[in-house]
Amino acid sequence: MRDCASSASNERPLQETGSKGRKLSLIRERNASDAGKVNLASRLNGSELLLSVATSFSADYRQAREKFLRALPQARPFVLANFLGPQNEELAIDSAWVGDPKAQCVLVIISGTHGPEGFCGSGIQIDWLALLEEGRLPDGVALLFIHGLNPHGFAWDRRVTQEGCDLNRNFVDFAAGAPPNPGYDELRAHFVPPALQGPSFEVAREAIRQFKLEHGERAFQIARKAGQYSDPDGMFFGGFNRSWSACTLEAIANVYGLASRKFVAIIDVHTGLGPYGYGELQSEHVAASSSQAVADRMFGPSVTSADLGTSASIPIHGSLQLFWERLLGDGRHLYLCLEYGTFDTESAQRVLLADQWLHVHGGGDRTAAFGREVRSRMRAHFCPDDPSWKEAVLFRGRQVLRQALSGLEQIAGGGFALQQASCTDSGLPPQAATGKAE
Ligand SMILES: [Zn+2]
Repeated sequence: MRDCASSASNERPLQETGSKGRKLSLIRERNASDAGKVNLASRLNGSELLLSVATSFSADYRQAREKFLRALPQARPFVLANFLGPQNEELAIDSAWVGDPKAQCVLVIISGTHGPEGFCGSGIQIDWLALLEEGRLPDGVALLFIHGLNPHGFAWDRRVTQEGCDLNRNFVDFAAGAPPNPGYDELRAHFVPPALQGPSFEVAREAIRQFKLEHGERAFQIARKAGQYSDPDGMFFGGFNRSWSACTLEAIANVYGLASRKFVAIIDVHTGLGPYGYGELQSEHVAASSSQAVADRMFGPSVTSADLGTSASIPIHGSLQLFWERLLGDGRHLYLCLEYGTFDTESAQRVLLADQWLHVHGGGDRTAAFGREVRSRMRAHFCPDDPSWKEAVLFRGRQVLRQALSGLEQIAGGGFALQQASCTDSGLPPQAATGKAE
């Protein structure tokens, strides 16, 4: 065997030979020491998180509700009268309290504000409930689960409620008058053209292209998504008055006495915006507010703020944030959208257009062939049928649960000073909250 004292020209091959020999030896030693260990790939594939993926997510609203009620027999249903699901099943918002009824700090977890986005939120709720079987909550902290806040949309795979209303645009003060959306008015006829292809579709596309050229992409997004209160057949319709779900949310808050608690943190699970599989914690609080300070301490730099411009946000009208703001005020609550990314914006626009077209021009039958196809596309967009996406969802959901419980435990114990901000959390016009929550 040649040694390292060979000529310089031979040095490199000799070193490689020596290195290869050492590597082979190391591999042999490792293989010997690995004897008896399980295959790492198999072990990871059988991880507890992936097992939860298989059991936490549901195939339809009915199954999701059954899982929720099985885990929480104490749940209180708020039944939606006069409507049924596709399997003739009852539709309801189900709420359940877990922990000390007198707890001063509460974590509220909401699923299904936007119908089929509930498949994700329900999955997280079921995962958290399984975790809760293994341990108790911190002293002074309780959980309130709200399952299927928009049960009709959840069951029928529509983002909107049975009123055709986007629930996350429905919390404006209707008595004060709904806010205008001039951009929407300009493009109204073109958002949902009479056909999904052909001349009328091309005319609509051209009108939108011209609007973007003239006003920019951001102005278009505001026109399309900020919310409109004039066209019940249009997209992102905020309603003419409070929806059944909005009234029921208020009833739930009253039943559990949320207004008198020391602090309430609300996590509202959404999907469809952002990087695939990542759950962005979006704050709609004013940057200088006490609630935003609590968000920053509780969840750290992963919280994005529309007010600070750390998220590519547009202003939206009438979000759920306004409900909690009116109920609890600044410094006594924290409302965050946990928004999980799925596919790109163009995909979202295509699937939402097909859904709205079916409703406005296509007869609205969601049991016939095209209706079933639209439903399936909606579900696939808002809760991808991909175990890795769901794994990322649950991982992030558990992280958020851990951070929230830790923060609330500190608040309950008095070690987390809450201050009333000098500026109120309503620095924005009363009917507008910034945020990119879909
Ligand atoms: Zn949403």
